[in-house]
Amino acid sequence: MSYQSFNPATGKLVKSFPEITDGEFEGKIAEAAKCYENWRHGTYAERAVIISRAAAILAARVDDFAKPMTIEMGKRISEARGEVEFSSRILAYYAKNAQKFLAPVKLHPTIGEAHMESSPIGVIFCVEPWNFPYYQLARVAGPHLMAGNVLLVKHASCVPQCAIAFEQLLIEAGAPTGLYTNLLISHDQSDAIIDDPRIKGVALTGSVAAGRSLAARAGKNLKVSSMELGGSDAFIVLEDADLEHTIKWAVWGRMYNTGQTCCAAKRFIVVESLAAEFLARFTAALNALRPGDPMDEKTTLGPLSSESALTQLLAQVNEAVAGGAKLVLGGKRIDRPGSYMEPSILTDIKPENPAFRQEFFGPVALFFRVKDEDAAIALANASDFGLGGSVFTRDEARGKRVATRIETGMMFINNISWADAELPFGGIKDSGYGRELGDMGIQEFVNKKLIRTAHLDAPA
Ligand code: NAP
Repeated sequence: MSYQSFNPATGKLVKSFPEITDGEFEGKIAEAAKCYENWRHGTYAERAVIISRAAAILAARVDDFAKPMTIEMGKRISEARGEVEFSSRILAYYAKNAQKFLAPVKLHPTIGEAHMESSPIGVIFCVEPWNFPYYQLARVAGPHLMAGNVLLVKHASCVPQCAIAFEQLLIEAGAPTGLYTNLLISHDQSDAIIDDPRIKGVALTGSVAAGRSLAARAGKNLKVSSMELGGSDAFIVLEDADLEHTIKWAVWGRMYNTGQTCCAAKRFIVVESLAAEFLARFTAALNALRPGDPMDEKTTLGPLSSESALTQLLAQVNEAVAGGAKLVLGGKRIDRPGSYMEPSILTDIKPENPAFRQEFFGPVALFFRVKDEDAAIALANASDFGLGGSVFTRDEARGKRVATRIETGMMFINNISWADAELPFGGIKDSGYGRELGDMGIQEFVNKKLIRTAHLDAPA
């Protein structure tokens, strides 16, 4: 049985869920395809009734949705509540703006007239990760359902209760059968879906390994795909940074969601003149975090999402140290029930150390000291990833100049306020392709059709 809720704060199994049978599997694909034939012809206003009702239910019942998330993957309850509220805002945003984003766009050919129309393309298969159990679902459901597409969704195997709760949310909001279907399926069944001619697009948020597998499968089938993958974002501190302000963002940027965020600050790149003070204050701030029950508002350090996530991270830290890195803080599991890890800082990571190129998905910061701004930019760009990054300086114009030179999909100056419904989210290089959220997010799975009118005689 591969879909299981384990509480990572206690290590106890909460509930298991069987994978669906082949017969159920075929039935669900058929229902989605049938639903599309009606849903595609609905108006934006009709779609918005259901999507905004789902937004309102989330907003009205925050705790009902937040608690299962905390139980299943250990997110601290205040962060879990914030995620439910944000998911509600994303759904409401697309319910309100989809028609405007997908309105026909007039073109200006030299002869005649032309415009681009946007129309849905069909059933989209979405594969989503456990680290934001609802936000990731809202990021695909809001735009793509409002665009007139229909979704089949495979959520991560460790958050089945959240996966089912989101499907129920849409049903409660009035979704017709087949509009949004949660699938408890294996990786082989996932491959079979991508091969199925009724499926027209693939959206993944997950690891680079999953990205390579799903993008290859989609490519073989000539299906459009979007890939939101991992990251190892640089957090650049220039010599004119406001250190008080910067340290608070450094702690938040590394430790939010117990460090399990794709666009978390993972590589701290600090200019020499501030490096010693930054490291001392950052170390003290991380050291002050206290592990506890993530359901308790006072807890400042939650568990990792699972025992295997903890084991993998500990192995990465050991490998980094064996490769010459120095551990200046933490590095061990915390001696208590559950999958807790000490906040950790590694320094002296040379380019030949495996850690230099890896993503650390948890409370482990990589610290680098550099000579100046140019060296900071060069180091930030010496990464296979290209998701986000941040720069801290009192000179905003300088911050913008540095941001322009960093090879990522997103840059933040004097903050790392990653996501807003209005702002496109995504990366380049091994961090994937395509964008979610904002106007761009709804354009990923629509047919952009050119229509031209011109009274022209055919060339002789
Ligand atoms: P993961 O192992 O790739 O899992 C993510 C999802 O992909 C899960 O639903 C998983 O299902 C599924 N999956 C994995 N391999 C698959 C395959 N071969 N065929 C079909 N489905 C497959 O990722 P993770 O390590 O749990 O999640 C964290 C990763 O996601 C990190 O690298 C993080 O940076 C990235 N992430 C990126 C973003 C972004 O927007 N760029 C946002 C959040 C997270 P199972 O659970 O059944 O294996």
